[in-house]
Amino acid sequence: MSIKKDGIMVILSSPSGAGKTTLVNLLSKNKNFNISISHTTRKPRINEIPDKDYYFVDNEKFKKLIKNEEFLEYAKVFNHLYGTTRTPVIEKLEKGENVIFDIDWQGADQIKNKRLNYKLITFFVLPPSKNVLFNRLSNRDMKDKLIVEERMKEFSRDVLHWINYDYVVINDDLDECYSKINSLIEAEISNGSKDYDKDYIRRHVDILTC
Ligand code: ADP
Ligand code: 5GP
Repeated sequence: MSIKKDGIMVILSSPSGAGKTTLVNLLSKNKNFNISISHTTRKPRINEIPDKDYYFVDNEKFKKLIKNEEFLEYAKVFNHLYGTTRTPVIEKLEKGENVIFDIDWQGADQIKNKRLNYKLITFFVLPPSKNVLFNRLSNRDMKDKLIVEERMKEFSRDVLHWINYDYVVINDDLDECYSKINSLIEAEISNGSKDYDKDYIRRHVDILTC
């Protein structure tokens, strides 16, 4: 008789521009994680594909989903609403498929507090420096200097949430950061030893916030 094995949930959060979407895509491609597709009331970016990157909806539709209690979590981020609907996530986990989330600290807190019966691993991604973050945001949101300014302003507040995550990783070299996350997930799954230095992270946060 085979024993049913549920999927696991992995959450990646970060200050905007640190690279979590890039890392989530890599984890999905290389490790077969299903990316949880969020609903949002913000407008699509030029390179974004509706129903793949996000379900883009208006305020009215979003509020209806709230009223019908369809969200596992939702939050207001940068003046827009973002949320994860419950059914697609639970269906995948029940089938033994893993699900990865690119959500902010408010959503991560809500999912953690639900204490669902599935393994949950949370990661917070940091940039190597504020300069690098500024350059990444500027390259990505080239046309919109206001977005870059707004997200740099939020950085000092966002970064303080690192303390609530299982692991914090620094996204300097992309391949190295990906390997670090991958090995921590593997160690969590197999209950193996974890190569993780929290004091080093604490010092890095001190430098980022001074
Ligand atoms: P987030 O989802 O955290 O807002 P993104 O994944 O969109 O961030 O990354 C922001 C920008 O930085 C993107 O243009 C992405 O291609 C780039 N980027 C991500 N990780 C790295 C890295 N390690 N080195 C250089 N550029 C990166
Ligand atoms: P962006 O607009 O850059 O795609 O995302 C802005 C922020 O919203 C990011 O921090 C991202 O992780 C977060 N976000 C995206 N989807 C969700 C979601 O479903 N729930 C929550 N709480 N945050 C989300």
